[in-house]
Amino acid sequence: MPSRKQQNPVRVATGVMQPFRIRGIPIFVHWSVLFIDVCIAANAYLVNSFVSSSADWRVAIGCCFSYTVSITAHEFGHAAAATSVGLKVHAIHLTGGASHCRTDRPHSVRSAFLLYSGGLLAHLALLSGAASYLALFGWPRSPAGLCAMYTFVAVNLISIAITLVPYRWGRHVSDGRILWRLLMHAIRDVSGPLPVPESNSQVSPTRK
Ligand SMILES: [Zn+2]
Repeated sequence: MPSRKQQNPVRVATGVMQPFRIRGIPIFVHWSVLFIDVCIAANAYLVNSFVSSSADWRVAIGCCFSYTVSITAHEFGHAAAATSVGLKVHAIHLTGGASHCRTDRPHSVRSAFLLYSGGLLAHLALLSGAASYLALFGWPRSPAGLCAMYTFVAVNLISIAITLVPYRWGRHVSDGRILWRLLMHAIRDVSGPLPVPESNSQVSPTRK
């Protein structure tokens, strides 16, 4: 009899690199992540070369690093939230457009709310760290540091706004829409299944 893992393997999309693991959780990185990183680095390098007499590759690296950390933190936030409420994290899939964290399905409003808030909390934590740094040391003086900090703050602010917007795009349902429905579910105190989509950012492979 096949094992549960064999019956329900984690789906791997084409175009992903060989996964690596963090605390036993497989991390899949799609080529589109690297493509966007290269675009951001090239854009930062070219803009810097136009506005200053000499281009600085450190500006490109700083922007690229800030963007990558800010975007990937969202899914690691979901993973941390899932772990905190006892849900198993099966995998994190990082892509250029629709990254997602695969976990067990939540069974209570509280665990679902925390799970779907994880990405938002990660962005807020990063912004709090950036705000604390700026309050203590001010804006960086070097072009690379300044560009990295601007990118860091901007990407996290934009990510928070996008996360909170309640929308549905094909099979993807935004965290904001799910959180809103969970809030209504709790306020109305209705019974029945949680308003968590079968197919979204956080679903158990056993449900696919
Ligand atoms: Zn999310």
